[in-house]
Amino acid sequence: MKIDIVIVNGTVVDGSGGPAVKADIGIAGDRIVAVGDVGRVEGAAVLDATGKLVLPGFIDAHGHSDVGLYVNPQCESKLAQGITTEVMGNCGYSPFPLFDNTRHRYLLDPAGVDVDWATAEEYYDVVRKRGFAMNAVPQLGHIMIRGAVLDNQDRPATRAEIEQMKDMVRDAMEAGTRGLSTGLDYACSTVADLEEIVELVSVVAEYGGFYTSHLRGYSRNVLNSVAEAIEVGRRTGVRVQLSHLGIFGRKQWGYMDRMMELIERARADGVEVACDMMPYRTKGSWWAPRAIFPAEVHDWKRPWTENLPGIRLLLQDPVKRQALKEAVEARRARPKYGFHEEFVWFSDWRDIYIEELPTDSRFRTYIGASIAEAAEKEGMEPCDLYFDLVLHEGEEFGATCIQVNEDEFHRLLAAPWTMFGTDAIATEFDRLREPWNSIQPHPRHYGSFPRVLGKFVRDENRFPLADAVRRMSGLVADHFSLTDRGYLKPDHFADVVIVDPAIVGETATWREPNSYPLGIEHVIVNGKVAFENGHSTGAMAGQMLTRTN
Ligand SMILES: [Zn+2]
Repeated sequence: MKIDIVIVNGTVVDGSGGPAVKADIGIAGDRIVAVGDVGRVEGAAVLDATGKLVLPGFIDAHGHSDVGLYVNPQCESKLAQGITTEVMGNCGYSPFPLFDNTRHRYLLDPAGVDVDWATAEEYYDVVRKRGFAMNAVPQLGHIMIRGAVLDNQDRPATRAEIEQMKDMVRDAMEAGTRGLSTGLDYACSTVADLEEIVELVSVVAEYGGFYTSHLRGYSRNVLNSVAEAIEVGRRTGVRVQLSHLGIFGRKQWGYMDRMMELIERARADGVEVACDMMPYRTKGSWWAPRAIFPAEVHDWKRPWTENLPGIRLLLQDPVKRQALKEAVEARRARPKYGFHEEFVWFSDWRDIYIEELPTDSRFRTYIGASIAEAAEKEGMEPCDLYFDLVLHEGEEFGATCIQVNEDEFHRLLAAPWTMFGTDAIATEFDRLREPWNSIQPHPRHYGSFPRVLGKFVRDENRFPLADAVRRMSGLVADHFSLTDRGYLKPDHFADVVIVDPAIVGETATWREPNSYPLGIEHVIVNGKVAFENGHSTGAMAGQMLTRTN
């Protein structure tokens, strides 16, 4: 048997949930050809995995690489954490079809990216010619077609418009697109009703595709929103993915039992519903400390460091400070609507945690504490303490908002149908200064999968290794119909990651999020070593996993 690469002496966890076994893996071309006692083969490259885990390449169940695949074809932030395949086109956004009235919906113009495709077919063509380093599973985003047909208006669609959208879904599916995603609390699709979605997903069903949903809400209306997505699956028969699932806001704590029961019952009824989660309780690093300030004093388009001097001037003036305090408190107390408000705003000082402070700050003992706790100890009002931290500690003050109950977070993270997603765009390490790459990322962009293996499996023993691996690979491949992927089995594509279990973990932090994780030693995509010893090899072996690929 001709073998190109042999991985010897490793501990294999094959993605099925079964126990770890000592086995070698033989790879020929883009496929695994042998699992077991392969030994050294003449002419084959040998990767010695003594003391290491040999796992199926991780499948990022929820990413946004889309245009990132074109701009950052090396996909380093993904490969570095062992991701060999990403399900992209999520949350209602896809890089196609593009029309003059929807281009801006994809942030192409502001990010300074010029593209010359319009249809799904053209997009596949362009990125395939250019090449890219990981596999990608494409979806059509509902917002891209709804925005085009309704010219971005927020109103129910007419019969004729629904037919037009269905034609667009058909076009995309014909081109090989795998599914449809919705982002039901983003502008222009909040008014799309269940009937519209069911009609569109019915077309997806004809092609054996799937439906993923950024839900209508993750807070007060989370239960209705989950039920709505399940209903789409019930009526169309397609597999349903609840995107970046979680329950936000203290008032909703306690809903987890009911949410998990909704999902379990639907599954028992034959609806193939599953979910993905970012393995973090925190929000984006863009959140804080600036997120508490209203738009009049903080311009989101400018970096925090440029906004800070103006905010400090306001805080030094007692009258203006008082007015700002009233504005912040009013916004905090107001009911929140939609994903944006729930996510960016906050309702409770107990949810804001101090993350970073300068080394000489007298407040350093409060790192890890909430603003409410620290303020109580200081005998201050929380808002005043927050203002003082901004005023005196300035750029080096970091805070984050956590609105997810810790126990509920861990229960959902451990569910047998929960997959893991980065919700991130592929970033390239040496191009961080370019506009598309310059957004300050959340540590999850680099650390999600190593964090699950290091923190949740090894350090905290939250769930078994084989279960975690299954939910990173085999389960995801099955749910998204990725034939011959997700398992270390003969005849499967050779997407493989070699992990050092002793050190695997993230190194990305709020301050330095662009940081590779530890313990991801070799990453093989379609039989080619794409990443090793902390570096991309330059291999562009990724495939666009269209239905017809
Ligand atoms: Zn989303």
